[in-house]
Amino acid sequence: MTALAVGGGTPVRTTSFPSWPVYDADDEKALLDVLHSGRWFLADRVEEFERVFAAYQDAQYGVSISSGTTALQVALEALGVGAGDEVIVPSYTFVATASAVATVGSVPVFVDVDPETYNIDPASVEAAVTESTRAVIAVHLAGQPADLDALGKLTAKRGIALIEDSAQAHGAAWKGRKVGAVGDLGTFSFQASKNLNAGEGGFITTDDEELANRAWSLHNCGRAREGAWYEHPLVGANYRITEFQAGLLLNQILRLDDQMATRSLNGELLTSLLSQIDGVEPLRVDPRVTRHAYHLYVIRYDADSFGGAPRDRFIEALEAEGIPCSSGYRPLYGEPAFAASFRDYPFETAYFDGKPDYARFSCPVTERICADEAVWLTQNLLLGTEQDTRDIAAAISKIREHAGQLK
Ligand SMILES: *Cc1c(COP(=O)(O)O)cnc(C)c1O
Repeated sequence: MTALAVGGGTPVRTTSFPSWPVYDADDEKALLDVLHSGRWFLADRVEEFERVFAAYQDAQYGVSISSGTTALQVALEALGVGAGDEVIVPSYTFVATASAVATVGSVPVFVDVDPETYNIDPASVEAAVTESTRAVIAVHLAGQPADLDALGKLTAKRGIALIEDSAQAHGAAWKGRKVGAVGDLGTFSFQASKNLNAGEGGFITTDDEELANRAWSLHNCGRAREGAWYEHPLVGANYRITEFQAGLLLNQILRLDDQMATRSLNGELLTSLLSQIDGVEPLRVDPRVTRHAYHLYVIRYDADSFGGAPRDRFIEALEAEGIPCSSGYRPLYGEPAFAASFRDYPFETAYFDGKPDYARFSCPVTERICADEAVWLTQNLLLGTEQDTRDIAAAISKIREHAGQLK
């Protein structure tokens, strides 16, 4: 009898998947060139990278910044969103999407996500808009653009801003256009796990020159682009990146299209292999998504097809077979951070008809996803060979056939 590896059997796979980050002698040279130039900040490479990456994302303007988190903060500040304002965010995302809202003094209002794509649900957004709402942050989760048609239409109609949190979606496209400047502003991360990275870093994209100038000023001590060095029209912070990061990113971006093509090929192959196995459904890809960034490959696990074995037991079994995976986020509104930081909030807002109260949030789709359903594979698993991808499906298939052993 074939035994599952979790019970002591032979794993499907004992070799590792491609490691991340990817680098070679050209990256070394890029870093050493900056070192030997003696110009380690705000010289040519930061500006060049701003031009290159803005153009790559089909945006007119780009500002490099220290992280995806500070990109969100500065995007909100550039829009003038602050104390007493509400910002609608999905409940299924990385904490920064919501914590950036709190950092600028605004109140994150959590809404549920679509059960098939895990992206923010436009109908839930519409229902949560109040007279205090100033912006919506759509997250392109796992690298799949959110429904930018519906969100663009409803934010325009209500006169509120749309920010695209594209930290997981470098190069992704909606109806032929790259994400980032479809909404008013887009934000990116170059943190080590992201599909384009320099260890840390971030970016803001926009087609609005005034917003671009405000964002640039806010990330650079409140300076004016054309002003004197010690002239400060705004109160800003120092969220600049170094020339080392820009130099590395200028080289890393040369690999991005090839890496995206490999991820797409393997991602689509995995989807077709999984369609032959009951109980493991990939996230649905909206047909209007013309390029998926596959930052994550998310599987929707159905315990009933695995003899009732809980999702976390399936993850244990899949890891034992040699496929690294994880369960992902928790419902964000349940994090103690939000209840604690808004307990003594000095403003009342319309959504709460009073002071913010995080005990009131309940997003049933998010709760089910987090507790029982989501299984994450990270992007580097899709950077391997066709056989690597077939191993993932083979391991899942083996677990499904011998689900009785999961008890
Ligand atoms: C990674 C991430 C961020 C934050 O980016 P950092 O560079 O780590 O600050 C924000 N939003 C989402 C959806 C992310 O995945």
